Amino acid sequence: MEKNVLVVGGGPAGITAAITARRYYPNAEITVIRKEEKVLIPCGIPYIFGTVGSPEKDLIPDTVLSKNNIHLIIDEVTSFNRTAKTLATAKGKTLRYDRVVMATGSVPLVPPLPGVELNNVFAVKKDVKYLEKLSEVLDKAKNLVIIGGGFIGLEFADECKKGHDLNVTVIELLPHCLLLTCDEQMCIRVEKKLSERGINILAGRKAKAIVGEESVQYVELENGQKVKADLVILGIGVRPNVELALNTELEVHEKQGIRVDDFTRTSDENIFAAGDCTATRCFLSGSPTTIGLASMGTTEARVAGANLFGIRRRFECGIGIFSTCFGDLAVGSAGLTERAAKEMGIDVVAGEASAADKHPGCMPGAKELGIKLVFERDTGLLIGGQVYGGATVGEKINFIGALIQHKMRADEISTFQMGTHPMLTASPIAYQLVNAAEIAVTKLREKK
Ligand SMILES: Cc1cc2nc3c(=O)[nH]c(=O)nc-3n(C[C@H](O)[C@H](O)[C@H](O)COP(=O)(O)OP(=O)(O)OC[C@H]3O[C@@H](n4cnc5c(N)ncnc54)[C@H](O)[C@@H]3O)c2cc1C
Repeated sequence: MEKNVLVVGGGPAGITAAITARRYYPNAEITVIRKEEKVLIPCGIPYIFGTVGSPEKDLIPDTVLSKNNIHLIIDEVTSFNRTAKTLATAKGKTLRYDRVVMATGSVPLVPPLPGVELNNVFAVKKDVKYLEKLSEVLDKAKNLVIIGGGFIGLEFADECKKGHDLNVTVIELLPHCLLLTCDEQMCIRVEKKLSERGINILAGRKAKAIVGEESVQYVELENGQKVKADLVILGIGVRPNVELALNTELEVHEKQGIRVDDFTRTSDENIFAAGDCTATRCFLSGSPTTIGLASMGTTEARVAGANLFGIRRRFECGIGIFSTCFGDLAVGSAGLTERAAKEMGIDVVAGEASAADKHPGCMPGAKELGIKLVFERDTGLLIGGQVYGGATVGEKINFIGALIQHKMRADEISTFQMGTHPMLTASPIAYQLVNAAEIAVTKLREKK
């Protein structure tokens, strides 16, 4: 019998769920339903305003679906009839399903600030027309204020500055930008780099109001400071888009997203969920959490797509692995920071090591690469890692994520067998990963 799979959502999670379903169920009828005509590469959005140049150059081509024999419907799913196994759309269609993957993503958080509705105040929406409008305003702007110093806010700051002659100020509530994902030293390193690149960072300050007549004129901070602005970008995070799931009476964690089991099944066994709309579990505490990353959403989608008609894969918990870069400085973080672990009451030991990423260090293009590893003191288990350096940071932090996922201990990592090459890596003597672990092993032994 032909199997009918409907995927609600055409972002990274929806596309990946559909492609995975095609791989596992070659004879299934698979359809992606999404609201927008064109899908942006979401992680590329900040780069539209500098390096890439326009939303049209930052699109996921629909051929990724058509070449996998996946149908596409541009429409909005408005309701489900779970008994009849059908869903209804805004354009009046009724579609039958055997299995559904919910991949409805997330929407930007808009803070309840006075003046947030003024002209030239933008949230980061994954919407081509909206971003074209933002681009037009940016081209004329002289003073850009970004509220929120997380990785999205900082990427916007750097790219807008790169592509335009304007003053850029980032307002961050916490004592440092990126503090939710990196420890203080790493945050300071990034802030210093951004300051060198002409960006004004106001950390430890709270925006109180966005002020202007019709359009924004300045942002007022709680300390009374007024920061001139003819464009404001809100980069304070996202919330899972769970309206449809709630209307469908699926179980939902209010803030973290749709509840799924280890096999990405929702409370209805015919409906799976993946991506930003889904709650994940913290890899250490097991409590529901939300990790809005395309990388993790596609992992969940690979599990959902494979499990639709028989359980094959498991997704136990989210580690949260991210990386970004500003000019020649790249940073990455995986798992918990030392600060977050301590706030959770976990006794930790950290090891840090840095060295040139080629050897000898005079090799052309060599850059300092530093690694910090955070271990649980009781067990020696790796629970977090951070990296700074050049282009190798992206894959290095992914590797650290894999070590966390596979529950490696400090003593195991310190004797990890690596391959090294003068042009490609640090020297085997100075290899940062094993040395950071070795330093932690020494600290762990000292305490015994
Ligand atoms: C500026 C920016 C930079 C980012 N950078 C990175 C990065 O570097 N690395 C990284 O891993 N992550 C990054 N992220 C996060 C990443 O974009 C998200 O994690 C990712 O988009 C989630 O994918 P998704 O498919 O779950 O949801 P979304 O991309 O939000 O897609 C949701 C889809 O669901 C559709 N939809 C919703 N409701 C309905 C409905 N009722 N009917 C039909 N369709 C519906 C929408 O139309 C859309 O197609 C970034 C995000 C932003 C905004």
